[in-house]
Amino acid sequence: MKNFFNKNEETHPLTWRIKDLNSSIFIDEYENKKGYFALKFALKNLSPDEVISIIKSSKLKGRGGAGFFTGKKWDLMPKKKNILEDRYLICNADEMEPGTYKDRFLIEKLPHLLLEGIILSAYAIGASVSYIFLREEYVLSKILLEKSILEAKNKNYIGKNILNSGFNLKIFIHTGAGRYICGEETALINSIEGKRPNPRYKPPFPSHFGLWGKPTCVNNVETLANVPAIVLNGSSWYKNISNNDDTGTKLMGFSGKVKNPGLWEVPFGLTARELLEDYACGMKDGYSLKAWLPGGSSTGILTESYLDVSMDFNSINIIGSRLGTAISIAVDNSINIVSLLLNIEMFFSRESCGWCTPCREGLPWSIKILKDLVNKNGRLGDVEMLEKICKNLGIGKTFCSFAPGAVSPLYNGIKYFREEFDNGIDTNLPIYEKKVCGIQSNIFS
Ligand code: SF4
Repeated sequence: MKNFFNKNEETHPLTWRIKDLNSSIFIDEYENKKGYFALKFALKNLSPDEVISIIKSSKLKGRGGAGFFTGKKWDLMPKKKNILEDRYLICNADEMEPGTYKDRFLIEKLPHLLLEGIILSAYAIGASVSYIFLREEYVLSKILLEKSILEAKNKNYIGKNILNSGFNLKIFIHTGAGRYICGEETALINSIEGKRPNPRYKPPFPSHFGLWGKPTCVNNVETLANVPAIVLNGSSWYKNISNNDDTGTKLMGFSGKVKNPGLWEVPFGLTARELLEDYACGMKDGYSLKAWLPGGSSTGILTESYLDVSMDFNSINIIGSRLGTAISIAVDNSINIVSLLLNIEMFFSRESCGWCTPCREGLPWSIKILKDLVNKNGRLGDVEMLEKICKNLGIGKTFCSFAPGAVSPLYNGIKYFREEFDNGIDTNLPIYEKKVCGIQSNIFS
């Protein structure tokens, strides 16, 4: 088993300060461990454009799941015409991906690392107001963040004329109301504005028309937490941490029936097998690995034969899944895949915002079929219908990427475990037109 605490700042820029998993690092300890060094350095020596240039050159990718280059995203913001122009930086802490808790971990253990990342990023894009959009259920995170914001204000890291640099920044915590779709950046912006959290049409993109119609950048917690170390140590150092096209480190983990469930800061490029065997210490006695989801419930289910793939954005895409949050879920041999997928699709069906028809109607329809299969009441043609639903909710078929993510475990589940679906079919039952959410489907013909 790898020792969580055996690390240094060179190789573990996110977590090297943590020496006790049961406590948080507040301002004194954080400052004693090079906390706010990057901010002091940047405000004194670097222009906002220079900070953007360092982050661009570091090739830091967003850690929320999409993997878009952070520096490029910042660079999309229009150049600021005057100092009084409003623009916003939003920290996306609406962590609702089932199986994932990496952002909560960072907020609760290292609240000042996140704050320093927010302040530096706001400086780079010229934002004078930042919102931390926090999942409502993260009650302890909110308390710790409030305390830390107050500490940072008292040291003039937040507020007016920060460290005599002329840079001003306010930080507010905005708690969500418990909707998964708020993780989508435009739905999140609508939610802060007090509107129903439907995703918005794009373009215009938030970089030009975001919160209150002003230029806005939305970054994930872990993304922002990477910024201080990159600014302090430089982009070359960051790129050299990993032996991979994806630079730096990533919080990765394993949950399920493994001996040592948890998350760890690791360089991109280690294999899923290393993560499972060296860090999570393999499956518990009496269980074997049947399948795994690489990064949360919206990532395509994979079989044991893919464990040797490198944990990075591109490699996982190539094998037909997504890295997502990189907090993997182990599915053991005691679990029926159809039941598991029913559980997952029930979650996504509930969390659909209902804006577009394929997603709003397709997900409840898939649940009806999956329930029949679980109860061995399935009929011939049901699995083909599930495949059709997956296709109709695929990339480009719906208004936002929620639906493709929702059906991706189902699509792969059918591909790799078809037999378990077929086992739910009662061949004695007559084939008939399935009801589509209460409407007989043949009324459309
Ligand atoms: S895909 Fe789903 S979540 Fe996205 S807009 Fe359509 S209904 Fe809403």
